[in-house]
Amino acid sequence: MKRCSRCGQLNDAGSAFCEQCRQPFPQGVNHAGYLATAHRVYGCFSLLLVLGAMLGEVIFLISFRHTLLRFLEEILKELFDLDVSLVQMGPLILGLIILLITAMIGALFTLPFFATARAIRRNKPWLKLAGVISVLVSIMAFPFGTALSFYTLWYIFAGPGSRPALQQSDR
Ligand SMILES: [Zn+2]
Repeated sequence: MKRCSRCGQLNDAGSAFCEQCRQPFPQGVNHAGYLATAHRVYGCFSLLLVLGAMLGEVIFLISFRHTLLRFLEEILKELFDLDVSLVQMGPLILGLIILLITAMIGALFTLPFFATARAIRRNKPWLKLAGVISVLVSIMAFPFGTALSFYTLWYIFAGPGSRPALQQSDR
C-alpha cells in the first residue's frame, strides 16, 4: 500500500494514479508531468501563431482592402451578374468573416493541447479522445508536433495513460 501525498487515500502498491483524487504517483520518469507540460508549451506556441496570423490578416486587409473588394465585385458580376458595390459596404464585414474563420481554425489547433494537458494531469476518462485529436492536429507538424504526437500515442495507448481510470466520480 502507498499513501497519496495529495489527499491521504491508501492505494495499492502498483497503482499509477490515486483512486480518490487521480493524482499520478511518481514512477521513476514522470511521463505525465513531461507530456502535460509539452502539450501546454505546444498549445501556447500554436496560440501565438494564430494571433500572429490574425494580426497579419488585419494588416493585409487594411493595406489591400480596395483591391480585394474590387476583385470580389468583379467575380460577383461575372458569375452571378450581381452589380454590388462592396467598397461602399466597407471592408468591415469581409474582415470580420476572415478573422472569425481564422479564430475557429485557431481554436482547433490550440484547444486540444490544453485539454490533453489537463486530461493527463487528472487522468480524465476522455484522455484518449483529447490525445487522439491533438495527435491528428499536430502529427504533420515536423519535427516538434510529430515528436509530441508519438510521445502522446505511446502514453495513451501503451504508457501510463493506457490504464483505465479507476473511478468516474471526478468527471
Ligand atoms: Zn489522492
